[in-house]
Amino acid sequence: MLMLYFLVGTIIGSFLTLVAWRVPRHESIIAPRSHCDNCQHYLDTIDLIPILGFSLNKGRCRYCKEKLSPVLLLGEIVAGSLSVSCFYFSSTKSQLIFSLSLLAFCLCFSLMDLFYHAIHFPTFLIFAIYLSGISFFCSHSTLNWKSALFTASIFYLFSSLTHSFGCGDVDLLVLCALLFGSWRLGQIIVLACSLCLLTYPILYYHKIHQIAFIPYLSMALFILYFWH
Ligand SMILES: [Zn+2]
Repeated sequence: MLMLYFLVGTIIGSFLTLVAWRVPRHESIIAPRSHCDNCQHYLDTIDLIPILGFSLNKGRCRYCKEKLSPVLLLGEIVAGSLSVSCFYFSSTKSQLIFSLSLLAFCLCFSLMDLFYHAIHFPTFLIFAIYLSGISFFCSHSTLNWKSALFTASIFYLFSSLTHSFGCGDVDLLVLCALLFGSWRLGQIIVLACSLCLLTYPILYYHKIHQIAFIPYLSMALFILYFWH
């Protein structure tokens, strides 16, 4: 059964990768069908099978041999693995719906941040309203409006003065404050910064100086969500 959850997760991950890649470029997620951005060749069914398609083609386009981003494979593996965690750790149906929605949200905007170092705000807003809705109506959790307003005023001001946070990072922090409150938000920030510091030598070695912080915030959010 866990294998089935993993496979479903990888399919969702593959779709979210498409959303994260196309939406900020103002492209439709339906048409044209999946193709190589380099040679424009349409992909066959086997190329679209999550993980397997990437592995069989050794991380390259089957037609023009252009190297594909390893983020594509990573997104599918993470989606599959965390889907298993969602099914394993969720004790009620509403908790399962919320955790899977949170996974889709975090994965989509982490990928967007990795691809473009920015997020598509209208899509973020739709996801944020949906998540707040299911948190309130399905999980009967209180929305922490005061924490969200406090976080927004502090971090938007700090971000505009220092340019140390991207707007997408602050948007996510405000949503975390709304859903989980100030105390949990503080824990998420500390853990995300710690994870970022731990991986900094690797990023420095690969000459990656512009760090996408949403993936770290998402990792911290998920670790603390399941820890709780
Ligand atoms: Zn190609």
